[in-house]
Amino acid sequence: MALTLFPEMFPGPLGESLAGKALKDGTWALEAVDIRRFAKDRHGTVDDAPFGGGAGMVMKPDVLSDAIEAVSPKPGGPQVPRLLMSPRGAPFSQARARQLAEGPGVLLVCGRFEGVDERVIEAHALEEVSVGDFVLSGGEIAAMAVMDCCVRLLPGVMGTAQSGDEESFEDGLLEYPHYTRPAAWAGPDGIERRVPEILVSGHHGKVAEWRMRQREEITRLRRPDLWGRRTAKRNEEK
Ligand code: SAH
Repeated sequence: MALTLFPEMFPGPLGESLAGKALKDGTWALEAVDIRRFAKDRHGTVDDAPFGGGAGMVMKPDVLSDAIEAVSPKPGGPQVPRLLMSPRGAPFSQARARQLAEGPGVLLVCGRFEGVDERVIEAHALEEVSVGDFVLSGGEIAAMAVMDCCVRLLPGVMGTAQSGDEESFEDGLLEYPHYTRPAAWAGPDGIERRVPEILVSGHHGKVAEWRMRQREEITRLRRPDLWGRRTAKRNEEK
């Protein structure tokens, strides 16, 4: 479920490919509710100028709060996690996606303008989630990223179960490089590039070993943060 000022943006890209097929066959469901429906005046006002001054507008607490209440399950009953898309939130992760995918669903609140009145976050104990250290113009694309990540983890959505486990981040390592036919290919630079010999050797043990070494090397070079965490965890286990 998404709360948004632009419900027509959904399902958007999530209506295509694997997520789209799963949406059509009912593996998951998506409802995008227009926050403007909860506006208090006939102009449909949803934002106002910030107290203390400054640029931009802020989403009004009364309107957004009513929207959240209207789509939330009755208090006392089973609740779903309520996430606010926000650049200052906790970085969204594969681990959080796994938890959400195993859960009963999720409410994603999409901000616009400069963001939402702080008191709504507090009153509804919204979990602020960021999809990266950059600023989008609204929470919709962030919410779609979160949904896509969760949906592909649902049973039956992706072809082989295995293509989940060896992927980037699942075990704190980035993925190994992929190759497919042709085994020798000349790119626009005229240089013929062959796939690594080991991959066509038919030696599964050696392939697995090579891939693991690649993953470690790529992670160490590109993401010292992930690599550091992994080595720290390993040292702890010793
Ligand atoms: N003034 C804010 C940016 C607001 S961007 C700031 O400086 O932090 C408008 C909306 O886009 C936000 O309320 C949020 O819902 C969404 N958004 C922007 N960047 C995002 C990100 N990296 N992750 C998740 N949501 C984001």
